Amino acid sequence: MSALAEITDKVASFGLTFLVHAAFALVFFALGRIRWWLSTLALLWAVLGIYLLWAELLSPRFGETLLSELGWSGVVGQHLAIATPQLAAVGASYLLHRRDQRRRRIGDGECPACGYPVAGSRCPECGRRTP
Ligand SMILES: [Zn+2]
Repeated sequence: MSALAEITDKVASFGLTFLVHAAFALVFFALGRIRWWLSTLALLWAVLGIYLLWAELLSPRFGETLLSELGWSGVVGQHLAIATPQLAAVGASYLLHRRDQRRRRIGDGECPACGYPVAGSRCPECGRRTP
């Protein structure tokens, strides 16, 4: 009985895992507002979280019991709870970066697609219409 209680403490619930990783994803998203690529640190965080999960699942002492208790659906759920917030942080940072870049280029009289200076209605570099 005490061994079972010890094992259930090993892996957090889906909700708690998601909340913790969502909190870190917000930090990585905030970093991504400074430089969008800083948000990619979230991917390293997700890899670390998945590595630690598998370190528990493959441990000779608890792994088998843990897997039987979680089930494969629980394992997949833990992966989703770890990776989804981090992927959302990187994706949102990149999309906001692209939006800001496009606005800045239009404001500076540059092609929003390639950044080449444009005077007319078409970019002389890539041929796209400019707003
Ligand atoms: Zn262009």
